Amino acid sequence: MIAEIVSVGTELLMGQIVDSNAATISAALPSIGYRVLYRQTVGDNLERLTQTLKLALSRADVVITIGGLGPTMDDLTREGIAAALDEPLILDHDLQQELQQKFQQRRYPMVSSIIRQAYRPACARALPNPNGTAPGLIAEKGDKVVIALPGPPAELIPMFNDYVLPYLRERAGDEPGVILSRILRVCGMGESLVEDRIKELMQASNPTVAPYAKTGEVHLRITASAPSSEQAQAMIAEVEAQIRERLGNAVYGVDEQTLEQVVMELLWAKGATVAVAESCTGGLIGHRLTEVPGSSKALIGGVVAYSNELKIRLLGVPEESLRQHGAVSEPTARAMAEGIRALTGAHYGIGTTGIAGPTGGTPEKPVGLVYIAVASEKGTRVAEHRFIGRRSEVKWRASQAALVMLREELL
Ligand code: ATP
Ligand code: MG
Repeated sequence: MIAEIVSVGTELLMGQIVDSNAATISAALPSIGYRVLYRQTVGDNLERLTQTLKLALSRADVVITIGGLGPTMDDLTREGIAAALDEPLILDHDLQQELQQKFQQRRYPMVSSIIRQAYRPACARALPNPNGTAPGLIAEKGDKVVIALPGPPAELIPMFNDYVLPYLRERAGDEPGVILSRILRVCGMGESLVEDRIKELMQASNPTVAPYAKTGEVHLRITASAPSSEQAQAMIAEVEAQIRERLGNAVYGVDEQTLEQVVMELLWAKGATVAVAESCTGGLIGHRLTEVPGSSKALIGGVVAYSNELKIRLLGVPEESLRQHGAVSEPTARAMAEGIRALTGAHYGIGTTGIAGPTGGTPEKPVGLVYIAVASEKGTRVAEHRFIGRRSEVKWRASQAALVMLREELL
């Protein structure tokens, strides 16, 4: 089955809001057997909306519209669907009553325009909207169907999950064919190197393998199309095994798993604790670790030691070393990691120091230069990095590299 999404709203065309709803819907459809081949965006204009819907209906089995179901003059989706399907727009008395009740319950004045939301194309039925006033619509005509959803995500998402997904599943029948994806998350290896190692796998057409560069990591999406979920999953598993063979430990997680989560799980498994001494990352590593529920089992805490004085006083970084090598140096990172480990008694101590930019760089110590140290009973490892990007990216990459390094120690 082929689906097409039509997002309605001039604010989308003007770039005032980002079309998160279309992304939500696009992400859900392939796994239930619907391929999204096109997405269109159109403003609040009846003629153009009708044209857009006609084009969508000419090439898709199911057209899903987003937005324009409200009561105001620029909410034209009902009219557009009626015109595109060549159906009259009729007043639905049940809907009218429901609307009146909703407004009475909330003691809102029911201005006359509200009644527009009780109209529907004659062939359509309404979808309840417990989170707002505008009902959704399912309009079936011949072998085509148009589904209209309200724009606010808080209304659209529940309506889509509760009514539209079950409807579409049923409509697709027993053997819909599915498209499933799995993301492999790769750290500590750049995109080009990843691609070089798996390039033959990227030539296959089913499953497909596609790399995406993220800040500080690479994602590989494996997508399989098959008659059933089981078959698609088996095909994905086979390719996943081949990728893991080529990339080894660099694959740290799958799908929604984050690096901090994976690192936490490794700490828990070992019964180990960690503490952080952060300069240029400003607490970001501590923040990321505390994003993981249950992190208190392994994270003792940390300090943001930005000034030299605090590095000396709290972490015991030798003053002489700071004078000789500077705050951004290998010895400082090392002393910070060892210092926080001694201060807290953690199994692992992390130290970061660097120049996040945009100012503060020199020819010898440019913006993006970051030293990261991990101290443990085995000794202290320090790495020098030269990151690119703006301040927030340098900080993020540094936090990423620190977590990668801790993970390496834990493996
Ligand atoms: P309302 O009854 O609130 O008028 P509606 O169904 O008419 O709802 P719109 O008027 O098109 O929907 O949009 C209402 C609000 O919903 C927008 O201001 C925006 O905040 C959000 N919205 C609309 N479309 C999208 C979209 N595609 N992605 C994310 N948010 C959206
Ligand atoms: Mg509106």
